[in-house]
Amino acid sequence: MAKFVALAGGIGGAKLATGLSKLLKPDELKIIVNTSDDFTQYGVNISPDLDSVCYSIAGVSDPINGWGRENDTHNCFSELKSIGETPWFVQGDKDLAYSLERTRLTDAGLNLSQVTKILCSRIGIAHEIIPMSDERVSTKIVTKELGVIPFQEYFVRYKCQPTLSEVIYNGLDSAGIADAAINAINGADFIIICPSNPWLSIFPILGLHGMKELLAQKTVIAVSPIIGSIAVKGPAAKIFIEKGIKPCASAVAFLYKDILKGFVLDLQNITETELIRSWGIIPFATDTLMQNIDGKKRLAAEVIDFATQF
Ligand code: GDP
Repeated sequence: MAKFVALAGGIGGAKLATGLSKLLKPDELKIIVNTSDDFTQYGVNISPDLDSVCYSIAGVSDPINGWGRENDTHNCFSELKSIGETPWFVQGDKDLAYSLERTRLTDAGLNLSQVTKILCSRIGIAHEIIPMSDERVSTKIVTKELGVIPFQEYFVRYKCQPTLSEVIYNGLDSAGIADAAINAINGADFIIICPSNPWLSIFPILGLHGMKELLAQKTVIAVSPIIGSIAVKGPAAKIFIEKGIKPCASAVAFLYKDILKGFVLDLQNITETELIRSWGIIPFATDTLMQNIDGKKRLAAEVIDFATQF
């Protein structure tokens, strides 16, 4: 049976990874997740993308936000507010518990891959979810209005409103690919780049030293996070515009064109297929909006079928 590795960020990545996890067995699918959004607050290690993917695959994520836990309470952060603290990154109590346990295990000397494995098993996930690196990579956003700010300030505090001129990945040059991620890619036939934000979620993974060489041996397929000219959620389309590029599916394909064999785009972008084909990439147009679990499974099944034709 063919073996797959999915590369994922947070919400968009989690959606397709969840669909894939319903169709592929744990020995057929491993998921490598961006960790360049990771940060520490009150001494607690928070890995937003890992948590989004884990909660989604475990079936315990907040169905409205797509991040955090369903039916969570906010007692801890409400209390912080009542004693005069005004944190802008708020965690629900269950979500916080998960981050606290991550911090305890990390402080006990385990690396992020080992910690993630333990947390996944405790939340009932059979598939291997792997951080891209065990070393800290930190995204910084160069903005026109506020200068250089940490990713979470851009994303959460300022709600992606500042104009982005550049993205910097501190630590990327020296960070190694996690051993489990190297093994997963070496053992895979197909790599699926999930419909995640290229700059904020996928480039940090692709930018790890040696990653492009590893992927060059494999059949790589990407799914567009841009439908028509808009992002389903988040700043992907806004970032394209701020970079002077018209947001569309082919603009996403162009970003990955050196490593892609195939590209899945939405039917709304069907007029772009010939352009994508002219770059030597096989396009496949379908409905790429995943509105519920059935939509995630449907798109995952189509992506698997498409990939295995190569
Ligand atoms: P983040 O780190 O939480 O922002 O998560 P990602 O980078 O993984 O996902 C953000 C991207 O997911 C956005 O660019 C969205 O357009 C995309 N996205 C979210 N839901 C869907 C969907 O149902 N279909 C597609 N094609 N893209 C989606």
